[in-house]
Amino acid sequence: MKEKIRIIEGDITQQPVDAIVNAANTTLLGGGGVDGAIHRAAGPQLLEETRQIGGCPTGEARVSKGYRLPARWVIHTVGPVWSGGHRNEEVLLANCYRNSLRAAVDAGARSIAFPSISTGAYRFPLERATEIAMRETKRFLEGDDALKEIVFVCFGPEALTTYQNVFQRVFGG
Ligand code: ADP
Repeated sequence: MKEKIRIIEGDITQQPVDAIVNAANTTLLGGGGVDGAIHRAAGPQLLEETRQIGGCPTGEARVSKGYRLPARWVIHTVGPVWSGGHRNEEVLLANCYRNSLRAAVDAGARSIAFPSISTGAYRFPLERATEIAMRETKRFLEGDDALKEIVFVCFGPEALTTYQNVFQRVFGG
């Protein structure tokens, strides 16, 4: 199963996968960070579609087309804002990964790329977030064979090192 996982440093908007995941906010109207980058790369039609969708609660996921992106679909999920760990943040972040994987498979995707949800403006501690990302992905792949490739796109060398270390721990190197 671990052969399906790839960890790379790069820009998620450039990934040639079926679906990329967006770390959106509840309005789905775009924002900074990876959300802004995805909207810029996809073009203005993406905002037209997400406006129609009308928002997304924290932990859930919504699917749109990818427009000018190499990816056919964008899975918009809303991570929790970190506020110390006592507001269900870990469960909500796990929900993001599970619901995004489910939504991608239901749309027909065979490959998917994730950014590090909640670890930018939402300040979720990187290592804890990475553990949740890996554990939820492993659990999902154990129960569903549709996805053939899961790419974790790290934005910078610190995230890359953390992802590689946590991968060894969770998937057993
Ligand atoms: P959140 O509000 O969920 O924290 P951010 O966009 O602020 O979302 O950050 C989420 C992660 O996405 C951060 O680790 C950030 O470094 C990373 N990131 C920003 N731009 C890109 C990009 N173009 N490709 C991949 N990851 C990115």
